[in-house]
Amino acid sequence: MPQFSDRIIVIGAGPVGLCLSLKLAQEGVAVCLIEALGDDNFLEQVPRAGTNHPATLEMLDAIGLYERLEPRGIVAPRFQYRERQDNALIAEFDHAHLKDDTRFPYVLQCERIKIVEEALKLAKAHPSIELRLATTFTSFTQDADGVTAQVTNPAGEDEAIRGAYLVSGEGARSIVRKDLDIAFEGFTYPDRTLNIEVAYDFRTHGFAERNYISDPDEWSNLFHWKGPPDRWRVHFPTEPEEDEAALTRPDALQARLQRFLPTGSDFDIVGTNLYVVHQRVAQKFRKGRAILAGDSAHVNSPIGAMGMNSGIHDAFNLAEKLAAILRKEAGDDVLDRYERQRRHVAVQHTQAQTIRNKRLLAEKDPAVRKKNHEELRRTAEDPKRARAFLLRSSLIESLREAEAIQ
Ligand SMILES: Cc1cc2nc3c(=O)[nH]c(=O)nc-3n(C[C@H](O)[C@H](O)[C@H](O)COP(=O)(O)OP(=O)(O)OC[C@H]3O[C@@H](n4cnc5c(N)ncnc54)[C@H](O)[C@@H]3O)c2cc1C
Repeated sequence: MPQFSDRIIVIGAGPVGLCLSLKLAQEGVAVCLIEALGDDNFLEQVPRAGTNHPATLEMLDAIGLYERLEPRGIVAPRFQYRERQDNALIAEFDHAHLKDDTRFPYVLQCERIKIVEEALKLAKAHPSIELRLATTFTSFTQDADGVTAQVTNPAGEDEAIRGAYLVSGEGARSIVRKDLDIAFEGFTYPDRTLNIEVAYDFRTHGFAERNYISDPDEWSNLFHWKGPPDRWRVHFPTEPEEDEAALTRPDALQARLQRFLPTGSDFDIVGTNLYVVHQRVAQKFRKGRAILAGDSAHVNSPIGAMGMNSGIHDAFNLAEKLAAILRKEAGDDVLDRYERQRRHVAVQHTQAQTIRNKRLLAEKDPAVRKKNHEELRRTAEDPKRARAFLLRSSLIESLREAEAIQ
């Protein structure tokens, strides 16, 4: 078996695995990237992430992805908090307050599938990346010199792949995390989120490209997803006992949308899906030569758009450290710093903020709702406080804090 003592095995060509591979390759490190999906079904993935925060855009730019994504996305500098009752605006935040903090004072609404499609093209073209599509990772072993990943290749044969380190970018169901017996600590919300994709221009009703809508009975999120032609996504909570077939019946979807925004005529619904939301962080991000990144290390509610963003931030942090180890500029212990930095961000930023975001939108106590909304309004109106708020919501503060962790 060839030794490949200097290469990194990355499992999963999701946004995290691909960004990690491209960054490692840029640093001169050889990568073997293993992905279960093949060319024939790679683009048939369920719609997921779509909002890319400023700090992530800087990273995507550094690996040549931003220029490919901007023309395929929507530049959105502003987002709103709204009250569902009377469709009233509570507060609007403008990323322009971050003009001295980032080259990208806006978010880019660009779906995960477009990111992985463009990143996959770059990975295919990179001589340092050996891309193994239609190859399923099944298990691994590690020893003092490296790791051996067991995979099932496109011919259906078992194959062993050797490398120096193995990174799990496999997503929430990570085999690596389970094999390492690492607890995935946290909880799962009892209610599922219903996503309805609609062809409609909600801006004509005063909405921004991203809207967080507060309501004691049925909070929601509304995002401009792509266009033209316009595609928007509306998220609603559902009761745990509600039947999926009943929830997604066309007349039930229309009735729900009409309650949300009475237009008097049917919405053009182009898709729907129901998903379960978890708030979990792996107890450890690293054991020996096996490392977790992205959803395999942490999962959270999409309210605030932090899952994929923070996963890409993991990837960049880790790539620099792995490259330094392989160039013999750093010892293996820098991977413990990766864990300290990124686990801190997962717990103190992404978990804390997404849990808080949901609580804010769903708050039932009228006095607390009033106080929260006034606080948001005052924050948005004061440039200093608005900037501080945006530094947190866009994850810039999380990166600065992580940098200070030794
Ligand atoms: C409705 C919804 C909306 C969201 N919106 C946002 C948002 O706006 N912003 C945001 O930041 N996040 C958002 N998220 C979260 C985001 O989608 C995830 O955090 C992100 O996709 C995680 O990326 P990943 O690369 O870690 O894992 P994944 O995207 O899950 O990719 C994992 C990859 O690994 C492959 N794989 C898995 N197992 C194996 C195996 N055994 N062998 C080989 N390959 C394997 C899979 O095929 C896949 O390609 C949203 C999530 C949902 C559900």
